[in-house]
Amino acid sequence: MSTLLEIERLSAHFTTEEGRIKAVDEVSLRILQGETVCIVGESGCGKSVTAMSVMGLLQGAGVEIGGKIKFGDTDLLSLGKHHLRTIRGHEIAMIFQEPMSSLNPVLTIGEQMIEPMALHLKLSKKEARRRAVELIEQVGISRPGQIMNNYPHELSGGMLQRVMIAMAISCAPKLLIADEPTTALDVTIQAQILDMLRQIKAESNMAILLITHDLGVVAEMADYVVVMYAGKIVEEGEVTRLFESPKHPYTQGLLKSKPIMGQRQDELFSIPGQVPNLLELKPSCYFHDRCAHCMDVCRTKEPALGRVGDGQKAACWLYEEGERHG
Ligand code: SF4
Ligand code: MG
Repeated sequence: MSTLLEIERLSAHFTTEEGRIKAVDEVSLRILQGETVCIVGESGCGKSVTAMSVMGLLQGAGVEIGGKIKFGDTDLLSLGKHHLRTIRGHEIAMIFQEPMSSLNPVLTIGEQMIEPMALHLKLSKKEARRRAVELIEQVGISRPGQIMNNYPHELSGGMLQRVMIAMAISCAPKLLIADEPTTALDVTIQAQILDMLRQIKAESNMAILLITHDLGVVAEMADYVVVMYAGKIVEEGEVTRLFESPKHPYTQGLLKSKPIMGQRQDELFSIPGQVPNLLELKPSCYFHDRCAHCMDVCRTKEPALGRVGDGQKAACWLYEEGERHG
């Protein structure tokens, strides 16, 4: 499989009144065609910021983005707004936790689907409407004609997320970025939506970058997992290996907290302690305050992300030869 998206040393730093926040720091990752990569971590770990950078959604005063995001031969970070907009929604689509936030409350679902499809796919209104109905059926809604005439507030959260997915796949994107797409939904609906995403992916060879705090979702969906903590990747690897043999103490803690799909974020993490304040980070392993294996070196030097097994990497001094006892 060839590489679809390659993120090279991405950093996203924000200047705030209190100081500079390194929301994402030197993150590199690769997504192959048709692959599902999950980024997992607690809120504020930088997973959403990473996704938003890919979509070119982080702009404005005080935002400093560094590194490269290569989509095919194009560096998305060097594209102008217009060109980026053509790729966004067409080749790369995104769905969010709150579908309501990306829908227009005063237009019907049909109106919101038909216009952009007609435009992007160069279809007549009639053809776009027919295609929209097909897509709504494809995402498991039984009366598509009726849904087309509904306003967003008339639909349940699960229905809305299905509609969002229908919109996202309407231009047959090569990559779907899904940021906590099922977090707001109840467990049964969540499972149905994940099933549907898997099916769409299998039929279309679309790659998925899935952002989640939920290891149950990771287990269901991922080919490859990236674990983030305080803006950095602390571990990554192929999903079965990572679940069987997590190397980083943070990943081990996450897996021990035995999440059940559908649990709320605040119930999930039982690792003692708190995520460090991103304003006050000194060179160190950022997990050291919460780590049962912390050594002297962990408090003063940052561990690099290095190989810890077949196709698995971790950033932890436990695996650095010679530094083991600090
Ligand atoms: Fe724990 Fe040290 Fe490894 Fe950080 S580097 S996870 S503090 S052992
Ligand atoms: Mg988020």
